[in-house]
Amino acid sequence: MQTFHAGFEPGYPPVRVCFGAGIRHSVGAEMETLALQSGMVLTTPEQASQGDAVLSALGSRGHSLFSRATMHTPVEITEAALKAAVGADCLIAIGGGSTIGLAKAMALRSDLPQIVLPTTYAGSEATPVLGQTANGVKETLRSPKVQPQVILYDAELVATLPVRMTVTSGLNAMAHAIEALYSQDRNPLSNQLAIAGIRVFSEGLPRVVADPGDLEARKETQFGSWLCGAVLAQVGMALHHKLCHTLGGSFNLPHAQTHAIMLPHSASYNAKEAEAELAQVAEIFGGSVGPGLYDFAASLGAPLALKELGLAESDLDKAAELAVKNPYWNPRPIEQGAIRELLQQAWEGRRPA
Ligand code: NAD
Repeated sequence: MQTFHAGFEPGYPPVRVCFGAGIRHSVGAEMETLALQSGMVLTTPEQASQGDAVLSALGSRGHSLFSRATMHTPVEITEAALKAAVGADCLIAIGGGSTIGLAKAMALRSDLPQIVLPTTYAGSEATPVLGQTANGVKETLRSPKVQPQVILYDAELVATLPVRMTVTSGLNAMAHAIEALYSQDRNPLSNQLAIAGIRVFSEGLPRVVADPGDLEARKETQFGSWLCGAVLAQVGMALHHKLCHTLGGSFNLPHAQTHAIMLPHSASYNAKEAEAELAQVAEIFGGSVGPGLYDFAASLGAPLALKELGLAESDLDKAAELAVKNPYWNPRPIEQGAIRELLQQAWEGRRPA
């Protein structure tokens, strides 16, 4: 294997990353280390009880619970949360990408430090990237100001993630790593992180599906989540992410499920042009990239067809048209006809050839 590389900039910001079942109980100690006095806890409405438990355990270091985090990080919610944060000197986000997105959006505007406890595998905690929505338009920005300072991966928190969401969220994380392997600005470190992340999920996801309460397997998969998130922080994404952003942004399809369905198809689209870069992926998934990923997803009970998410077949022409506009760099040229066929295949849930 060739390991020499003339030079690259990994550019990771200093982040403290800890793993362990029950590590949420050390939020107070983390605050003490950083000389923080008053933490505002953030969750979605569905996870308010997890937030409440952490807030109560903080005692006098607890400021309040704000439990209105929601998908796509609307600016109005960020502004309401900032009003409620008066007197807080740090943010404690407990949740998936939506809650972490709220913490990032608040940090961007206030410079409040963030301690985050991820409860899905989406990986936002490991990136300096924020997607937020104003007047129905989603914008994505990259700033060191939004990168959380402390990440506490508590296996007991992710163990409550329902099995179906566990599977789609894991595939969402794997999609970051797979696209990173053929990214235009990939480097030797991003390649190693990506392969490690894919391996962790290929072994760990079947284990957490078989036993969602297996905390060792949950811990392993959370490590995979950090690996795949750290890769997303480093390199640009390609066709797969463009397709998912189009389907999510213009047709309101759910984030993780859309990634899970599209991954075998987008990887298959690029399989020939990125054959060398994806060789280890093919090896992990039984000899082929697209069909291998499809069989892996099917074996875990993942949704396989866009029609299951409520997308109408009549929307596919529009989706193909939008997906080829302002395309991201991709190893294989983006052709509208081929993308339309890819979308048809994903809509029907057919196994890629
Ligand atoms: P999410 O945060 O939207 O969560 C989905 C639902 O699952 C919510 O109702 C949530 O409360 C619930 N949930 C989460 N964890 C749970 C648990 N352990 N137990 C029970 N319920 C739980 O889902 P997500 O897929 O993590 O995040 C998606 C969002 O994150 C998207 O908006 C996406 O754009 C963003 N994202 C951003 C980045 C980035 O780097 N900026 C990276 C990945 C994803």
